[in-house]
Amino acid sequence: MTERQAPPEDGTGNPASTPLNPFSIDFSGDAGSSDGSVPVGGGFAPIAIESDVDRAPTGVSVDTGRGGRTDTKLLIIGSGPAGLTAAIYGARANLEPIVLAGSAPGGQLMITSDVENYPGFPDGIQGPDLMALFRAQAERFGSHIVDVDVDRVDLSERPFRAWARGVEYTGQAVIIATGASALWLGLESETRLRGRGVSACATCDGFFFRDKEIAVVGGGDTAFEEALFLTRFASRIHMLHRRENFRASKIMQDRAVAHPKIDIHPNRIVDEVLGEHHVEGLRLRDRVSGEPEKMEVEGLFVAIGYKPNTEIFKGWLDVDPMGYLEVRDETGSKIEGVFIAGDVHDHRYRQAVTAAGDGCRAAIDAERWLEAQGVTESSTATAW
Ligand code: NDP
Repeated sequence: MTERQAPPEDGTGNPASTPLNPFSIDFSGDAGSSDGSVPVGGGFAPIAIESDVDRAPTGVSVDTGRGGRTDTKLLIIGSGPAGLTAAIYGARANLEPIVLAGSAPGGQLMITSDVENYPGFPDGIQGPDLMALFRAQAERFGSHIVDVDVDRVDLSERPFRAWARGVEYTGQAVIIATGASALWLGLESETRLRGRGVSACATCDGFFFRDKEIAVVGGGDTAFEEALFLTRFASRIHMLHRRENFRASKIMQDRAVAHPKIDIHPNRIVDEVLGEHHVEGLRLRDRVSGEPEKMEVEGLFVAIGYKPNTEIFKGWLDVDPMGYLEVRDETGSKIEGVFIAGDVHDHRYRQAVTAAGDGCRAAIDAERWLEAQGVTESSTATAW
């Protein structure tokens, strides 16, 4: 198979920097308070970004220790492509954003190996390297990024408030960019081989399975959509579903049944993904007979749904029937001054580039709203 590479390592377990990438992510847990490192409240594996890019002479301090800035014009929750793009735009508009990045910052690209569809990288880029670039660019203009999970928010009045690890952060405007998480089966072997044949994104990774035999697990529309998309690449696709009946719409089922490359296997439980360094097969079990079965495939796409990360906004913002935040008037929400960007509302495209675009839109909308409230001066609106 066309083996996908895990992020290259420098021998210390850290992804190495690449010629395109003058930054390296340090997962050593030794983030100091020197320039360029990212503050954590302690206990998390911090990410320190070493950059040889000069800081912008904005005079905006990037406080890297405890006791850094906690109030801002623009508070951003989430640090995937949407959150960090919002930070780049917000910082360049002098909104001095604080990004509450989560304890596992960077979003879903941090668990993606090759990213070949993000424009500007003709040779592809590793997901973590791409996010390090986003982050360095956001910091260069004065964004203050804190790797903490937000426990709760109070969006009842301005300034809006968010708490993380006992610290209260306030923002005159908020951009929510908490993303969505793919659901996984929960197998140890699945986790181990993620990025080495196990994927949750056919659009991102289907290309690597040209002329390969692969499996898709799940029985909803996502699974059928992924399987049908993968027929462009794979030689054969086995759809594995744990029950007899499928949740997917009839039309999607009919298309899959009619497709010569797709075989449908109901009542199959995936017990293990086989392979040491990359996927070599699956150990399955027939749910009805209990019979074990081995299936030789070189890839497994897990398509059992997504969970938007909206828990902390319950009671404040509306969600649609699928649980995603409801957007009003482009990137707004039902609360004036609270904006929404990326996969936390978008279950249609779910791409890094669309999330980044959304972050840009939300930052521009937030800046214009802040200006209308008299929080910022009017000179920044076109100075992106
Ligand atoms: P669904 O919840 O509809 O389906 C998830 C599927 O995964 C179910 O078949 C479920 O099995 C299975 N599953 C869940 N957990 C496990 C597990 N641990 N092991 C094995 N199988 C598991 O999610 P989708 O993402 O497919 O769809 C979500 C919504 O988005 C739906 O409303 C869907 O219609 C919509 N959608 C629409 C699309 C379109 O119109 N083009 C495309 C994609 C999604 P079980 O059935 O046994 O619970």
